[in-house]
This record gives sequence, structure tokens and C-alpha cells, in this order.
Amino acid sequence: MELVFATHNRNKFKEIEAMLPDHISLLSLDDIGCTEDIAETADTIDGNAILKAEYVRHRYGYNCFADDTGLEVDALAGAPGVYSARYAGDQKDDKANVAKLLEQLKDKESRKAHFKTVIALNLKNNENLFTGICEGKIIEERRGEKGFGYDPVFVPNGYDRTFAEMEMKEKAEISHRGKAFKALIDYLSK
Ligand code: IMP
Repeated sequence: MELVFATHNRNKFKEIEAMLPDHISLLSLDDIGCTEDIAETADTIDGNAILKAEYVRHRYGYNCFADDTGLEVDALAGAPGVYSARYAGDQKDDKANVAKLLEQLKDKESRKAHFKTVIALNLKNNENLFTGICEGKIIEERRGEKGFGYDPVFVPNGYDRTFAEMEMKEKAEISHRGKAFKALIDYLSK
């Protein structure tokens, strides 16, 4: 079966391609001629994943899946959440986003947070959602050079290192995205 992964992110694409069962041939957005950015205008993480998968299904006619991720911080009532990429503005600047997060948490007691990834799978006859959550906390200063986004300030529960201090493989074992992808792959492998 041909299946489109609705992302322009090559790293994410390669990571999931390597995990898929043999009967699935994974196509990228480039492979199907979709070079535009797909708008993420929903006000929930689930909604954005669904919207991106539906866009590809309706415009291009392929079976497909799309993912969306957000960081939800307890003391900020779940912010930045669905707005994680644009927390500090439309330029989607990771450094500015982290700086704003640290500033917002300066006088807060709780630093509990979790990442949430939702994958929407859109097949001809049905739609399914797969969710992965990684619980942890936001530390007070950046640590580590690996990863991206909020990784330098996020320490998952049970660890004393940030995501940015972990190898990609170690992070994928416990991460929100890793868990959501595993649930998708289990489903597709059946
Ligand atoms: P996206 O849905 O994967 O594009 O992610 C939305 C935003 O959340 C990104 O711009 C990142 O800043 C942040 N983000 C997503 N996944 C991660 C992660 O694994 N670690 C740190 N930040 C992430």
C-alpha cells in the first residue's frame, strides 16, 4: 500500500520510513508534487493533524497520515500547546520560543509539562488518531546541543538529562513522537 507522510521534514520522514512494515511504501509530499506549506489553522493539536491529513487526501487523493506536536505546561494552563511553533511569533524561532517559556515560568512553582504528538491516519474508509505523551519538567536554563525546539529545557520523568543531551535514538524510545509512531506502526502492521 502507498501511504503519504504529510511532512516537509526530511528527518521525521526517514525516521518513520525505517520503522514501517515492508508492505507499506512511504511517499513524501515532494513525491506527490505537494510543495506548498499546509496551513495549520486548527486550535487543537488533534485538529491540526486531522486538517493536514485531510488536505492531502482531498487534494491529492492519497492514503496518508500527518502529525502535530505541542508542549503543554501545567502552570501555563496548557500553553504553548497548539501554538508551540509560534509561541514567540510567526518567525517560528526555537531560541525565542524557549526564552519566552523560561520568562513565563520565572515565578511559577510547578514546572511540570508534557509533549503531546497526535498522528491522524486518513485511509479511504476510515480515520484514526494515535497519541503519544511524554511527561516531564521544564528546567531553568538550557542544557545540551542535540535535538531541536524545546529539547534543551525539557527533562523527561525518570531522567536527569534534557532531550538535548540525549542521542536521537534514546530520545525516540521515550518521546511523545516515538510513542505515537509506534502506535501507528502497530496498527499498520496488523
Ligand atoms: P511540529 O508539530 O512537529 O511542527 O512541532 C511544533 C513545535 O513544537 C515545533 O516548532 C517545536 O518547537 C516543538 N517541538 C515538536 N517536537 C518537539 C520535540 O520533540 N522536542 C522539542 N520541541 C518539539
